[in-house]
Amino acid sequence: MQIVKTAKELSELCRSWHKDGQTVALVPTMGYYHDGHAALMDKARGLGDKVVVSLFVNPTQFGPNEDYASYPRDFERDRAVAEAHGADALFAPEPAELYAPDAATWVEVPEMSTVLCGASRPIHFRGVCTVCTKLFMLTQADYAVFGEKDWQQQAILRRMVRDLFYPVTIVSVPIQRAEDGLALSSRNVYLTEEERAQAPEIQAGLRYARSLVEQGETRVSVLRDAVLRRWASRLPLGRLDYLYVVDPVSLATLDEVKGPALMACAVKVGKARLIDNILLK
Ligand code: AMP
Repeated sequence: MQIVKTAKELSELCRSWHKDGQTVALVPTMGYYHDGHAALMDKARGLGDKVVVSLFVNPTQFGPNEDYASYPRDFERDRAVAEAHGADALFAPEPAELYAPDAATWVEVPEMSTVLCGASRPIHFRGVCTVCTKLFMLTQADYAVFGEKDWQQQAILRRMVRDLFYPVTIVSVPIQRAEDGLALSSRNVYLTEEERAQAPEIQAGLRYARSLVEQGETRVSVLRDAVLRRWASRLPLGRLDYLYVVDPVSLATLDEVKGPALMACAVKVGKARLIDNILLK
């Protein structure tokens, strides 16, 4: 596996692969790998002739009071995981390599970026769309693989790619979870033992909502109240950021579950802000 540090090197490497008629699958990540990242790499390995994993804690997707500086990092361990999961190249640039001091160009999908996570993280998806654009340009990737844990992210990127005719296919991988149901996240390391013990209640609440839908409940207000009541007693350390039911493609909020519907949430537990989602239908 090659370690690539510069944009030029990455572009030349991928160009040479394409010239040989090989396809490229890209896995954008911020590192501190867990089995969720590994599942994305495995998926990419099955899609492209060559796999590029990018490891970049992207400063532009963090707000001023967020955890950019303290975001967990472990390059040596990540390098070993990427190599074990079949990456051909690990792209690990310094921020200055991707952002010139006078960088002034942004890509954004405003309508889909102010709801859900975007409400409390106003610049987040602009940073995500911009860095993914840079990675798509440099790699000319045929496939780019993302996790359904960040459902909003992959929905926005699908819209961006469709609207601007990017020659890449976005592929999503289901949420990978710990045995007790907690969605794997690099930020789970922030949890204390007590917080970690309550955190699986996030998914349990969402599953409870889905069971109510299976029993015939369609009113979102009823589903929401039921989940919030459950969390109040079983997840007392949790502070709700949001809990919404949205159209899985457009992310428009729904009042009733008639067709495809996604329940998505963000809950702050101690220092961690945890997100999760479930398809209700
Ligand atoms: P991150 O390094 O947290 O930015 O995540 C990089 C990619 O891994 C994103 O596409 C995430 O959606 C995906 N990912 C993170 N956690 C999980 C998980 N538990 N299951 C599946 N995909 C995940």
